[in-house]
This record gives sequence, C-alpha cells and structure tokens, in this order.
Amino acid sequence: MQMPFPSDLRGEEMMKTFVRETILNLKGYETKNTPYVYKLDANEGKTLFFSDQATSEREDFNRYPDNEATVLCEVMGKFLGVPTENIVAGNGSSEMIELIMKTFIDTGDGVLSFTPSFSMYEVFTNIYSGRFFSVPSRRDFSLDVDALIAKANEIKPKVILLCNPNNPTGAFLTEAEIKKVIEETNAIIVVDEAYIEFSDGSFVNQVNQYENVIVLRTVSKAFGLASIRLGFMVANKEVINIIKKVKPPYNLNSLSQKYGIEALQKTEKMSRYVLEIKQEREKLYQEMKKLNIEVYPSQANFLFFKSTLVDLAERLQEKGILIRQFSGDLAWYYRVTIGEKEENSAFLNGVKEMVSHAS
Ligand code: PMP
Repeated sequence: MQMPFPSDLRGEEMMKTFVRETILNLKGYETKNTPYVYKLDANEGKTLFFSDQATSEREDFNRYPDNEATVLCEVMGKFLGVPTENIVAGNGSSEMIELIMKTFIDTGDGVLSFTPSFSMYEVFTNIYSGRFFSVPSRRDFSLDVDALIAKANEIKPKVILLCNPNNPTGAFLTEAEIKKVIEETNAIIVVDEAYIEFSDGSFVNQVNQYENVIVLRTVSKAFGLASIRLGFMVANKEVINIIKKVKPPYNLNSLSQKYGIEALQKTEKMSRYVLEIKQEREKLYQEMKKLNIEVYPSQANFLFFKSTLVDLAERLQEKGILIRQFSGDLAWYYRVTIGEKEENSAFLNGVKEMVSHAS
C-alpha cells in the first residue's frame, strides 16, 4: 500500500509531482490596481452604451473587471469560513473543472471518478488527452469508497473527482469516507460540491489540512443564479497560486462579480429556499414510493429513479414537463429536479396518470 499522501509530500514537492511541467515554469498574467488620474495602460475604450443609466447603477463598462475578484472572494470566504487567499472565482464550477485539467493533466494522465457521475468530468479529461477511469456505484447507487481506493492504487490517477452529493444519483459521501480517499490514495482530490447546500455537510473547511484537496462550489444551484456563471475553487494557497497562473486574465466579468457579491450577502434567503426544497424532496420521495417507483435517497435538489413506464419522459414532455432521461446502462432511469410546489405536483400528477393507465 502507498504511504498516505498528505504526510509524505508537501508544498513544492507536491506541485512537482502533480502539476504539468509546462505549468510549473509558467509565468501567469499579472495585473496591478494602481491608483490613477488617467488610466492609459490597458488599451480600454470609452463606454458608448449604457451611458444614459443613472450613475449609481452604472458599471465601469469600459474597464476590465478585477482580475482576482477580490471583494467577491472576500464575501465568499466569509460565507464559507475560509480565508480569501484560499479561493479562486470563475465562470461556473465548469471553468474550475477545466482549470484543474489544464493544470494537472498531460497526455495519458489518469483521472478517476465514480459512475454514473457528472458527465463533464470525462469530457474535460478527453479534451486534455487524459485517460478517464470510473468505478461503478453499488446496485443501490451508493458510492463504494473502498473500490475507488483499490482502483486508484491500481491505475495511479493524477486527479480523483468526487461529486458530493453525486449528480445524477444524489448519493452522499461522509466526511470520514472523503478522508479515507485522501489518506489512502496519492492524487489531487477534487470534491465537487455543486449541490452541497441541499445536504448534511461540506468538506470546505478542511482544505487547509491537506496539500492536495480542492473543493468546488457554485451559485448555479442553491443560490439559483445559473445564468451569471459563477463558481469557486477552494484549496490551500499553493494550489490556488498555481491555478491563478493558469486561469485566463479577467476570467470573471464585472456583472457576475457584482451580482455574486449581492447574493452571497443574502444567504438567509438561500437557506430558507434550501429548507423548502428539502421538504419538497422528502414529500416527492414518499409519494413516488407510494407509486412503487424505485426512487433513491438524495441529498441534492433532484431525485434519481427507475421506472418501467413506457415512454415516461416523452409523455411528460407532451404535458410540457421536462425531466432528464438516461440511456445505455441507465436505460429506464430518470432524474427529476425538485422545483416549486406546483411544478412538483404537475410532475407527480403526470406520473400518477401514467401509472393508473398502465395498471
Ligand atoms: N458540477 C456538477 C456536479 C454539476 O451538476 C454541474 C452542473 N450541472 C456543474 C458542476 C457545473 O455547474 P456550473 O458550471 O453551473 O457551476
């Protein structure tokens, strides 16, 4: 068995082991926030549009946004209870996943995850010419950490992606399970917490305990802000500094920074919404069970289920109700997002109708 990773590799040594050589020698784009009277250093133009808006609500549209999204990261840091220096912001957690591949994955390097999980893990791995491996979930779609560790020690991936709670199944890894993966493998461990607010606990406060752990967060789900494309990476300072070298200059536009700051200062609203969704999730879960549908426990804002009702998704679609349908190994499996009460009732009534016609 390999030595537990965090205790045997530190800082620079860790970087040399996992970061692509090209990236190690890279000098990132640097920006300065020097006070000015005349700003003539960045080839910016004059605002021709939106200039008739009231000054108080006007952005400096002609200026590049803050490259480091400093205020936004400060506000996010407060929300998470993590120092600002441990955070990078970008265009959704999608950009963060891609930045991880860009930083660590050279041709042929291994990436390991569970299956089913978020499909983009494999897509991004392929884009960067890595080799993607996955460990199947158990029959009940719970996640087998021991099988993952065994596979990791066989194929030695550079990156292990843990989606927690897992999309599309809603399965949840406990803190102890995540720690086990960290301690018994030798890789960069990414915990994708896109749906974490709907669950029982985050790993984000642990990042400074490890050299090799990255947590991803997004405002696309619990904060209901998918359109502003805002996501975060939280990790120890060494990882963050390398990622900052790789990220494109000014990757996060000023409007997303502004709305993100606003939303992250109103987290009570989010908490209330999450509570409602959790209640609706439990209600829908119980109702679906009553209909003898094979529905799985979920810690996210969706339910994963199996149904042999013929053309379920198509027939719901005829009523204007969209759910996610899977194929291949997951034929007959579906995922429904927990929406507003009215939306959930419409879905349930649609299914009830089909069940009554089928029996
Ligand atoms: N991770 C997971 C597990 C997801 O389900 C999604 C969105 N479906 C993302 C990341 C990407 O989210 P975003 O880019 O909107 O932050």
